[in-house]
Amino acid sequence: MLPLPSFQYEAPTDVVEASRLLSEPGSQLIAGGTDLLVSMKHRLFEPRLLVSARRLGLRGISEHAGWLEIGAATTLHDVARHPTVLARLPALAAACRTVATPTIQTMATLGGNLMLDTRCMYYNQPAGWRATLGYCLKREGTVCHVAPKGRGCYATHSADTVPALWLMGAEAEFSSARGVRRVAVSSMYREDGIAWLRLERDEVLTRVFVPLDTRRVVHRKLRTRQAIDYAQVLVAVAGPVSPGGTWTAVISSVSSSPILVEAASAAELSEAAFRACQPLSTHLAPATWRKKMVRVEVARAAALIG
Ligand SMILES: Cc1cc2nc3c(=O)[nH]c(=O)nc-3n(C[C@H](O)[C@H](O)[C@H](O)COP(=O)(O)OP(=O)(O)OC[C@H]3O[C@@H](n4cnc5c(N)ncnc54)[C@H](O)[C@@H]3O)c2cc1C
Ligand code: SF4
Repeated sequence: MLPLPSFQYEAPTDVVEASRLLSEPGSQLIAGGTDLLVSMKHRLFEPRLLVSARRLGLRGISEHAGWLEIGAATTLHDVARHPTVLARLPALAAACRTVATPTIQTMATLGGNLMLDTRCMYYNQPAGWRATLGYCLKREGTVCHVAPKGRGCYATHSADTVPALWLMGAEAEFSSARGVRRVAVSSMYREDGIAWLRLERDEVLTRVFVPLDTRRVVHRKLRTRQAIDYAQVLVAVAGPVSPGGTWTAVISSVSSSPILVEAASAAELSEAAFRACQPLSTHLAPATWRKKMVRVEVARAAALIG
């Protein structure tokens, strides 16, 4: 069993105080802890202070003026079972249900999923394992083992709920001691495995807003087993708003940021997705197969829309 490093713990009751604590070097927010605590055991993060989201009042789901407002600390279990999510946003319910396992979904939060670290088979390993390779560019090392001649990090964005929320036109609210800002989920990420979030370190994700009049979206996750595993390919697809309109897909788990693809028909969409995605090999599947499966998964999702 891997021990946790030692840390201090604070559970503030207001977001401004949480933000003030997060502005101090070596502090990090913890929500459900289902990813962060594993990463701490692997010594990927060694925060001096954990600031808990538990007492910030960020749990709960309500409807206002055509938007569903979901508190960032609401568990994936609760999101997936909410009557409005099931009736009006079934792709979001489906995406929550594909994260990890039902047990983990009772702890894991929607906010933690949107903020999830990028992943790589050379990075998400215990410290001793990483030390034998001399670590890597993302932490403690100087070389990327995926692309030794490259200059960046190609760790993949792998958060299950993001492609569906992106296509639904969801927005995220961030609060800090400096104020509140609301941004489209589609603008939160960038193509950099090390700095994948456009975010200041003292910002707390407080709420996720999803428009209830959104287009119908289909979520599909290709994984080795039907539980626990992260995706080999993750897609969300939406059909045209009106006849002759644009088909849209967001593909994840193949690069450091989700990839948006648009086309005039479902058939063109799957071909465009195939061309746009350049997945890397994982220890479970070669890159060539994953790339072909992008085309297949987008086509399967589009067929479900009809
Ligand atoms: C065995 C296993 C399998 C998994 N499989 C999947 C999978 O298939 N798909 C998937 O998407 N995830 C998977 N996960 C990862 C994880 O369970 C989920 O992504 C979960 O939603 C993370 O939420 P959390 O509340 O536990 O986040 P935490 O672990 O608490 O935090 C994750 C990150 O988000 C930050 N954070 C959390 N909340 C906020 C906030 N409100 N504001 C600002 N920053 C915040 C934290 O600082 C941290 O950096 C898996 C985890 C395990 C252990
Ligand atoms: S892709 Fe990123 S995490 Fe993976 S080995 Fe390269 S630098 Fe490390």
